[in-house]
Amino acid sequence: LFASVELAPRDPILGLNEAFNADTRATKVNLGVGVYFTDEGKIPLLRAVKAAEQARLEAAAPRGYLPIEGIAAYDKAVQELLFGKDSALLADGRVVTAQALGGTGALKIGADFIKRLVPDATVAISDPSWENHRALFESAGFPVVNYRYYDAETHGVNFAGMLASLAALPAKSVVVLHACCHNPTGVDLTTEQWQQVVAVCKEKDLIPFLDMAYQGFADGIEEDGAAVRLFADSGLSFFVSSSFSKSFSLYGERVGAISIVTQNKDESARVLSQVKRVIRTNYSNPPTHGGTVVATVLNSPELRAMWEEELGEMRDRIKLMRTQLVDKLAALGAGDFGFVKAQRGMFSYSGLSAAQVDVLREQHGIYAVSTGRICVAALNSRNIDAVASAVAAVLK
Ligand code: PMP
Repeated sequence: LFASVELAPRDPILGLNEAFNADTRATKVNLGVGVYFTDEGKIPLLRAVKAAEQARLEAAAPRGYLPIEGIAAYDKAVQELLFGKDSALLADGRVVTAQALGGTGALKIGADFIKRLVPDATVAISDPSWENHRALFESAGFPVVNYRYYDAETHGVNFAGMLASLAALPAKSVVVLHACCHNPTGVDLTTEQWQQVVAVCKEKDLIPFLDMAYQGFADGIEEDGAAVRLFADSGLSFFVSSSFSKSFSLYGERVGAISIVTQNKDESARVLSQVKRVIRTNYSNPPTHGGTVVATVLNSPELRAMWEEELGEMRDRIKLMRTQLVDKLAALGAGDFGFVKAQRGMFSYSGLSAAQVDVLREQHGIYAVSTGRICVAALNSRNIDAVASAVAAVLK
């Protein structure tokens, strides 16, 4: 049966982690990961999460099945985070939300639903994008193309190129957009640019699919929802996948959601019924723990305030690491890395080449992705000097 099965290629980032774990140097640093670490180099367990978990343990609730679309209080809290508490869309019943297995699970539910709706659609992702976007939409049966995005010369967005790519897509193409904190580059659109992207989607009859994996990591919860709010005001129907992996530091609990904006309440009811079919035939219904914890935190004024404070601490620490890295590199005469300060979220396209990344790893024990992507959220007060010196040495 399995004689002809070929070995699948290794995931490049997980492969990097394996190499890092096997490295015996005490000074090694892993900047290849997509996880936020504290200044002590640990994945945090947020105080708000701990409190909600304790309450849950004490309640000793039975573990029946959840509804197919998940916990109602969770879905509502997700909608309010994404669209704003006073959103007219929510009042009008134009948003359908289902709990999902992380942001990845949300993307897959959305992709499977679109496949039934528009089977011949093309999916367009940014160049570059989160490495799983292409594989995920291809495995859902779509051809995947890139739209222009990153400009290595300016360390910014090739916005004219992006607009031209989008305008050239066939009608009813799916456009996957990073709602904030673009992974892997850290380079986001301005509000004015988002307005133009909305206009192109409208004019060319495209299907926007916003991927929101880092809400709260750039400027704040409300601020980071700006792109979603612009699409909400546009009158378009669109998709949003969202995740609490990072903002709640709940990576392994797989807590995310798919939200779909429709034209009216009646469409919402029909869309929800189809989304439920997709979920039912994949994994039936979502797990209880992560959704319960997040819903408890978001619906308790006290725990919510605690979470917002902790999210702010994570955001501020990332910004501090950006500033310190740029300043240290300048002091070492390694050049102007000022663009790293303007990037947002956990990642930075550092501009290092694949060959430089190899030297960084082999000679200095510092691990980064071959594209030059580094995780700024893995820098800390103890490793940042070593990282800056190593990068400076590699650039000499
Ligand atoms: N989208 C993007 C852009 C991401 O960076 C990630 C996670 N690295 C995801 C989706 C998936 O999130 P999750 O881990 O919650 O599945």
